[in-house]
Amino acid sequence: MHDPECIFCKIVEGEIPSTKVFENEHVYAFEDLNPMMPVHTLIVPRNHYRNIADGIPDDEMAHLMQAVGEVARLKGVAESGFRVVINTNDDACQTVHHVHVHVLGGAQMNDGNPSL
Ligand code: AMP
Ligand code: ZN
Repeated sequence: MHDPECIFCKIVEGEIPSTKVFENEHVYAFEDLNPMMPVHTLIVPRNHYRNIADGIPDDEMAHLMQAVGEVARLKGVAESGFRVVINTNDDACQTVHHVHVHVLGGAQMNDGNPSL
């Protein structure tokens, strides 16, 4: 479950550098290269799935979602609040086709902020 062309697979494998926030057997979380908010962390499954609708097994989906709370706590936004975004395919401007969860926070947001 590794796509040799995929930059997030390369990040998971350590072939492309990243700033790690959290990891376990199932997921890897790292800082977004171009943060849209003071807190902007990405969480990916270690296995390659193109998007959230790409047949992710239940257990891997659970691990991906469980990591959201871990990351929010580690980044200090669990209480103040945060937003979770999963862009999927072209209309949502998904640019990296390895499913990833954006965890955004650290400042007041409204409906148009951030626009990812
Ligand atoms: P999306 O538009 O939802 O596909 O989001 C892709 C995200 O990946 C963007 O927010 C990019 O800034 C981020 N990104 C792309 N390349 C890297 C990288 N090498 N390290 C960290 N974040 C990246
Ligand atoms: Zn991948």
